[in-house]
Amino acid sequence: RDQVWVDARAARFGENYVMLIVEDRTESKKLEDTRRDFVANVSHELKTPIGAIGLLAEAIVGAADDPQMVQKFAGSMQKESQRLANLVQELIQLSKVQGAKLGENTVSIDLAAAITDAVERNHLLAEQRNIKVVSAAEPGVKIRGDYEMLTTAIRNLIENAIVYSNPGSQVGVGLREVEGIAEIAITDSGIGIPESEQERIFERFYRVDPSRSRETGGTGLGLSIVKHTALNHGGEVRLFSKVGIGSTFTFRVPIENQES
Ligand code: ADP
Repeated sequence: RDQVWVDARAARFGENYVMLIVEDRTESKKLEDTRRDFVANVSHELKTPIGAIGLLAEAIVGAADDPQMVQKFAGSMQKESQRLANLVQELIQLSKVQGAKLGENTVSIDLAAAITDAVERNHLLAEQRNIKVVSAAEPGVKIRGDYEMLTTAIRNLIENAIVYSNPGSQVGVGLREVEGIAEIAITDSGIGIPESEQERIFERFYRVDPSRSRETGGTGLGLSIVKHTALNHGGEVRLFSKVGIGSTFTFRVPIENQES
């Protein structure tokens, strides 16, 4: 399935000898392709709201003598500019966490506090969608990490659980310690994720249902940010999901006193 890309050069030595230098460029070719795809994806994602804002501005000028229409277009314009702002913010967050090493912001974090903070940051969204977020995290499970990065990742998982659930349902957030690992579990009884998509949803801009994601203000970057944050903290993300039943994402990182 994988192609091998080689860069070959030949040099002649005297009459009878030729030296052939063969270099395996598969990795650098892959990296180059990934970079090119990323730029193409970002451009595409930016173009949509920018185009919409331009059209709405024109519509406002055209409807200047109809205050009701002006208000309607201005409201849509505000939504599009919010989407643009979200996208830029998530791109900045992704560039911060991708391949980053934990630096001077590394502190001891009580995960119960980070969870409470992440739940709080989703308070309005949960209220709007009539979802009850139930958290049962006891203090005392500590890890070393970047508080802001970590809280953002947990917030993203809770946000997804809220967004991809049916109004009136519950989202659970649990915390436990298993064999030196702190495990945060976010469970919803929402739409679930088909098995064939479960690996791909951690890729940048990958969505199972692009129109639903856009409708709810998603950028397609949330889970990439979560995955890279877990990796930065020496951990991983696991997913258990069944279509129509719901999903559980577990965010697992080594507890503090087990680290070197
Ligand atoms: P988005 O901004 O689209 O939510 P994410 O990277 O956070 O981007 O998630 C990628 C995709 O994974 C989503 O578009 C959605 O299809 C799917 N997904 C993520 N979390 C859930 C969940 N809790 N339940 C069902 N689908 C989910």
